[in-house]
Amino acid sequence: MITPKRVLVLSPHTDDAELGCGGTMARWIDEGAEMFTAAFSTAEKSLPPGSKEYRLKDECHLALDEIGVPRANRFIFDYPVRELGYHRQEVLEQMVRLNRELEPEVILSPSGTDLHQDHAVVHNECVRVFRHLTIMGYELPWNHITFPTQAFVVLQEEHLRRKWAALTKYESQLEMARPYFRYDFIESMARVRGVQVKTEFAEAYEMIRIRL
Ligand SMILES: [Zn+2]
Repeated sequence: MITPKRVLVLSPHTDDAELGCGGTMARWIDEGAEMFTAAFSTAEKSLPPGSKEYRLKDECHLALDEIGVPRANRFIFDYPVRELGYHRQEVLEQMVRLNRELEPEVILSPSGTDLHQDHAVVHNECVRVFRHLTIMGYELPWNHITFPTQAFVVLQEEHLRRKWAALTKYESQLEMARPYFRYDFIESMARVRGVQVKTEFAEAYEMIRIRL
């Protein structure tokens, strides 16, 4: 696959991009892609009790530092978690604006099989706005009943290392002991996807739209 020049990653909550496609982001940045990220909710209601306001926003910046996304290329909105459905039109309008300002070539988005209500909103609005572009749906296994593994991005160990380094910046999520915020899980997933394409590590994608 040819490395895209301008990539926009749509992340319903601040950590979804790193979890779903952190390795791909690291690889494509190394290969010269201009990488942009947009997170739609800082998930303030999903923080451990007593956390300071906008903790996830701070953690997100530290995580994206590890991946190598320039500060100026990050957009973090603060729509309320689990309520993106009530803000569907605003989410769409933010995407329309991002499309106009950033002129991306490839979009990384939640997949069409993602069951989380906020992820489904971002997926649907993404397809509406960016259907003229290449759209790849990233994998978050705890949210899928099925996942179509139609595309794979091969990763080197360095890309996996940066994905994990980014995830460790989400201390609030580590504190909550989420089962997917573990190195052994992240590495195992990358190995499973790697084995499918006869390499050591990979991330898998649903190909929603291809524009070559
Ligand atoms: Zn999420």
